[in-house]
Amino acid sequence: ERQAIIRNFSIIAHIDHGKSTLADRILEKTGALSEREMQDQFLDKMDLERERGITIKLQSVRLPYKAKDGKEYILNLIDTPGHVDFTYEVSRSLQACEGALLVVDASQGVEAQTLANVYLALENDLEIIPVINKIDLPSADPERVKKEVEDVIGLDASDAVLASAKAGIGIEEILEQVVEKVPAPEGDPDAPLRALIFDSVYDPYKGVIIYMRVVDGTIKKGMRMRMMATEKEYDITEVGAFAPHPVIMNELSAGEVGFVVANIKNVRDTRVGDTITDANNPADEPLPGYRRINPMVFCGLYPVESSAYDDLREALEKLELNDASLTYEPETSTALGFGFRCGFLGLLHMEIIQERIEREFGIPLITTAPSVVYKVYQTDGKVLEIENPTLMPEMQKIDRVEEPYVKASIMVPNDYVGTVMEICQNKRGNYLDMNYLDTNRVTLTYELPLAEIVYDFFDQLKSSTKGYASFDYELIGYKASNLVKMDILLNGEVVDALSFIVHRDRAYQRGRALTEKLRKLIPRQMFEVPIQAAIGNKVIARETISAMRKNVLAKCYGGDISRKRKLLEKQKEGKKRMKAVGSVEVPQEAFMAVLKID
Ligand code: GDP
Ligand code: MG
Repeated sequence: ERQAIIRNFSIIAHIDHGKSTLADRILEKTGALSEREMQDQFLDKMDLERERGITIKLQSVRLPYKAKDGKEYILNLIDTPGHVDFTYEVSRSLQACEGALLVVDASQGVEAQTLANVYLALENDLEIIPVINKIDLPSADPERVKKEVEDVIGLDASDAVLASAKAGIGIEEILEQVVEKVPAPEGDPDAPLRALIFDSVYDPYKGVIIYMRVVDGTIKKGMRMRMMATEKEYDITEVGAFAPHPVIMNELSAGEVGFVVANIKNVRDTRVGDTITDANNPADEPLPGYRRINPMVFCGLYPVESSAYDDLREALEKLELNDASLTYEPETSTALGFGFRCGFLGLLHMEIIQERIEREFGIPLITTAPSVVYKVYQTDGKVLEIENPTLMPEMQKIDRVEEPYVKASIMVPNDYVGTVMEICQNKRGNYLDMNYLDTNRVTLTYELPLAEIVYDFFDQLKSSTKGYASFDYELIGYKASNLVKMDILLNGEVVDALSFIVHRDRAYQRGRALTEKLRKLIPRQMFEVPIQAAIGNKVIARETISAMRKNVLAKCYGGDISRKRKLLEKQKEGKKRMKAVGSVEVPQEAFMAVLKID
């Protein structure tokens, strides 16, 4: 029977614990890649991912493996993204598996996202195989980490594989445990088709390529398929699997993982979590758990050159084809002109999109500070959802404002508990709980406004704990807060793109810090420029950029012509990231400055 030789599994880990490296070793061991092709971190496709060492788009590979029992197995390794922003995608890909390798760094031990990923795996009833990685490191302490896996996670770690993905130690044992411990897929090959979409990517030639796991029935070329949530129908032109290169197959049946191509032009028709069925013999019920995911963080993206507006729209259209969680809408700013308000899953997602627009599409951008979505209850009974601070109504019209809150778990060595508590307090956190993991590590649980996490919480956490703190969060809902809009005026004019929303108790301090920061960031102009921070009509802070005294070129006058040209070029280079706001030249950093104060 075909299903008996199939094993579907993922690798879960805290970031940097070695998931990608292990995936490479597994590909190598199963002979999926020739030596020539063997390139570090094959599964992380985009250059950007490779540079940042993170996995964004999950992928699946089908690997033949001859086990010690003499049988040929098919292992489907499904890669998962390792960052909190992408929790939803992790959950989907885990749903396509029966087992997971839990990779834990032998010197770092269990971290916040190790736990978060374990919870996701347990929710999906996966068999978890602990792997203690990086045992080659001098600081490795596999016995301590094993104990941690038992005490903190509650898993039996007596069979945990001691491995080094880097040195290629323990790889075969890992594969043997996958074959032995991960259950073969169940599901009825004769029932009507039900396949779970766990990812999709856009290919300019083939259209959308859907990554899916067949749960029941069989999917084949020529079949008319229906997506049960979107109710879209398409004729299947190709079925196959990545091994790791695409291999066309006749069909995939219950338990198998692979891809489907059907000349689909928009990834939005193929939502992650939706169920594919046979339009001519449809299943009664979709697979459980389809949920729409909403962006949590918004910012404005503006081309530095206003003539690049259409190029920017095209870039966003193309990125959207690949990334159903990205949203955008045209937006106009008095200061920045025409641009787009874009919605993201989180900060990392936002940074990745910005970088891709600049690198892959070559469009220099001005980005405004990210904002969360506020709920504004007006005195006239209307409720507004505000994702751009500029759109906040006048104070007189507001009854109350609510903001999104998260529950954050922070794991940290004892020595840093005080420091972390102070940061959380500064970020308007409510203390919920503290748990000792063992004698020297603690999990702190706080309720925090999402907006404060967006404002460099993570950086502060890392830098004040020498990188030891790890952190994970989930959205818990909206709560009322005493929030006000702060405007920034340059030369007496409100710069809409610099407005932000702040808690009233911190308004004064933030206003002062920001005007000071802006004074340093905005270069001197030919005239004096006042910078003011105001709430409504009330100015709460003021700084002044004094006028430039001399023409910088004067020095070169009549002198060395090449030096003069160099100077001009340098200025031009700098100007790329400048935006003329009224008569003042403002650099990109100014629009993000609000993120880096406190
Ligand atoms: P991921 O974020 O979980 O995908 O982690 P990566 O696979 O990108 O690895 C993070 C870093 O740890 C990289 O610099 C790897 O070279 C390194 N690394 C991974 N596995 C090992 C190992 O077994 N031993 C050592 N010493 N380093 C490793
Ligand atoms: Mg990785």
